[in-house]
Amino acid sequence: MSLERYKAKFLFYQGRFQENLILEVSDGTILRAASKEHFKGQTVTDLGHVALLPGTVNTHNHSFQSLVRGFGDDMPFFDWRDQGIYKYSLSLKKEDIYTGALFAFGEMLKHGITTVCDFFYIQDNGNENAKAVIQAAKDLGIRLVLARCFYDWQTGPKRYQEKPKEARARCLELMKEYETDSMVTITPAPHSPHAASREMILAAFQVAQETNSMFHIHVAEARYEVENIQKETGLTPLLYLDRLGVVTNKMVMVHGVWLSDKEIALMASRGVKLSYNPSSNMFLGDGIAPIKKILDQKVTIALGTDGACSNNKTSLFEEMRMAALLQKVHCLDSSVITAEQVFQMGTENGGKVLGLPIGKLEAGYRADFVTVSLDNLELYPLQNLHKNVVYSFSPTTIDEVVVNGKKIFSKGQLLTISEEEIIEKVSQLTRHW
Ligand SMILES: [Zn+2]
Repeated sequence: MSLERYKAKFLFYQGRFQENLILEVSDGTILRAASKEHFKGQTVTDLGHVALLPGTVNTHNHSFQSLVRGFGDDMPFFDWRDQGIYKYSLSLKKEDIYTGALFAFGEMLKHGITTVCDFFYIQDNGNENAKAVIQAAKDLGIRLVLARCFYDWQTGPKRYQEKPKEARARCLELMKEYETDSMVTITPAPHSPHAASREMILAAFQVAQETNSMFHIHVAEARYEVENIQKETGLTPLLYLDRLGVVTNKMVMVHGVWLSDKEIALMASRGVKLSYNPSSNMFLGDGIAPIKKILDQKVTIALGTDGACSNNKTSLFEEMRMAALLQKVHCLDSSVITAEQVFQMGTENGGKVLGLPIGKLEAGYRADFVTVSLDNLELYPLQNLHKNVVYSFSPTTIDEVVVNGKKIFSKGQLLTISEEEIIEKVSQLTRHW
């Protein structure tokens, strides 16, 4: 059994940065955080003049989309989709999907993301493509939730499509294969009310029920989707999903930009959780999610970057800042949301939304953390560290990133797979695009 004790100038514990605390970790799990008097005469690793905080949790991403970053920027939505994602995702081989995941996850680790939920939907190769994403996460050392997509929209690319029975069997098979892996979690993910049929949504929901898993689904991202669902069903998206009987506390709603008051009340009463992706919503001109109303109803909100071709950054610290600023301007009120609230969304709430013991530095949680160097102007004055980590933070302040007790990034370098190696693979693949 390994036993490590870490000392930092500040430790983020019980909702605030505190001095004179030691974090004790064994085999990737936090045993306790306690004052230094408890550890007299024991070996303690001094991390230096740093603040130690929980690793951030990215609750929504599509890793292969990093490869098409820049190809559809500043175009209308359908051109963005067709010129970027649709055009290039059709030719990606299994090893290219692996490269895309290394690229996305490597960049995230550099930015202090220790867990990512990758919503994955290129299923033409059975589970082989999904396994390439999982392998990339394992090779790098990032914690992964693979939201295994259920998609059968005939208008979309053929290689995304499956039959409900097929998707169910493959998802269960993948879940079984990784059920004892503490670094990988598989969850079913019906794509959306427009790209998954009623049968497909129900198939994914049943898998979630049978395996006691969460399930992820895009809901009400763009206004046209809401209008289309209304035309087809006479209902807004969440009320349509409720008619299918799938609106439960296992649902992780991704986006939720266009929600009625009735739908927000329904989310609260059923315990639906939200993955809020503010940069992506802005990048694609989708709109502004009614976060103030959702918060007032005490719905759990976490944050996501979404794919790197609709952001185009991959930093949860950036999403914290964007979430706060966007809501302040939306409500014309600078007090409507605080740095502390968005920090919680990017850490602890990420753990709640993904159903994992992550996002907090407390006994029983996984040892996923980030240190930021206090030798940086951006973080001063230090008495406002909690605010400054959200509002004036720069990724260059990140000193080390530890996932499951293992150091993955240190002093500007990825330690598992080098940045040079990833750059070479990405350049090779995209050279003639
Ligand atoms: Zn998405």
